[in-house]
Amino acid sequence: MRILIKNGRVLDPSCGRDEIANLWIADGQIADDQGVEEAVADKVIDATGCWVMPGLVDLHVHLRDPGLTYKETVETGCKAAIAGGYTTIFAMPNTKPVADSEDVIRYVEEKGDKTGIHVHQVGAITKGMEGKELAPLKQLSSAGAIAFSEDGKSVMDSGIYREAMIQTRQLGMPIFAHCEDKPLVQGGVMNMDEKAKELSLPGISNAVEDIIVARDLLLAKETGAQLHLCHCSTKDSVRMLRLAKREGLAVSGEACPHHFVLTSEDIPADDGNYKMNPPLRREADRAAIVEGLRDGTLGAIATDHAPHSDEEKNGSMLQAAFGIVGLETVVPLTITKLYREEKFPALRIAELLSTGPAKIAGILEGEGAGTLQPGTTADVTILDPEAKYRVDASKFASMGHNTPFHGMNVYGEVKYTICDGNILKGELIK
Ligand SMILES: [Zn+2]
Repeated sequence: MRILIKNGRVLDPSCGRDEIANLWIADGQIADDQGVEEAVADKVIDATGCWVMPGLVDLHVHLRDPGLTYKETVETGCKAAIAGGYTTIFAMPNTKPVADSEDVIRYVEEKGDKTGIHVHQVGAITKGMEGKELAPLKQLSSAGAIAFSEDGKSVMDSGIYREAMIQTRQLGMPIFAHCEDKPLVQGGVMNMDEKAKELSLPGISNAVEDIIVARDLLLAKETGAQLHLCHCSTKDSVRMLRLAKREGLAVSGEACPHHFVLTSEDIPADDGNYKMNPPLRREADRAAIVEGLRDGTLGAIATDHAPHSDEEKNGSMLQAAFGIVGLETVVPLTITKLYREEKFPALRIAELLSTGPAKIAGILEGEGAGTLQPGTTADVTILDPEAKYRVDASKFASMGHNTPFHGMNVYGEVKYTICDGNILKGELIK
């Protein structure tokens, strides 16, 4: 099977390629077929005016399966991922039961295999995510886990966390760190600022995140562990990460679209769809996230896709669950904000959505994610950066419709999602 993707703007951050060209796929791999006649193609995609880039990689997804399948399942979550342009996703371990056993890792990865995209189940750091006793990290890695996280909370016991860092370093795998000083949250539901006062809602201070970012970076320095900071939302966490990277530590960070698009000032009322963890911060924080993404301090855009039922999200932030869906809005939000408004180069956008996260997760080399080099697996996303439309949450493939972006006018539409050479989204001209 030969697929020709013709006349697109080919963006491959793994080798700095940015040119109008044809891209060939043969037998599930990127092929080196320059000069091959169009007539030999079994399928043809006209990518004129579109970006042709390595399949998107999301380091931060909540699939809610097993146990919370009224919110999302592996199947529906992967459908949302395909709709959003993703070919590789990492599922967080805060399921029911928690992904602290080989059984859960295998269950999710086997279900994931049937969806057509690459699903990696992240292993929990402690048993039951209770923060008291380490999960069997080595066994989880044997079962297929290639990263560990306690996402949804932090391991508050620094002694246990240091031991986890020592073990993950030995395994050669990263920790994805959700940084939150739990006792300091004190019932907060949004950022602690003037807006929270106006809405009479309890706030979450920046220190809730910053204290744990500082601790985790210091532990990574002491242990040599590979530490990746999830959903950075404050200016000081960006600043601390920048310093740690300058020191040469094996650290990285990601940001979510809602943190570089919105601030707490954009919250119109006490509405559960604006409640997420970490919360929408101040303008100075948002601007620092953008600069971190621009200068490479933050190496990945992640969605923190967190589906919930309507009942769990409608109404006051006091009662609503934390989290919003993100897989199906990441491309338009990134194109609208970072490409059109902030003037990020197209190649940098492709890096943040694909090559960067693939590098952080260690799947650029072995699995060939995040690259379009000949001979690697044909994971390709094609998007039209000029397509203009309105976000319609009722059309999401995800079971979750909880988003503050419903009705927003955006640019940037995913046209094709191709994984292992299979066209999972998009229409052919041949
Ligand atoms: Zn988190």
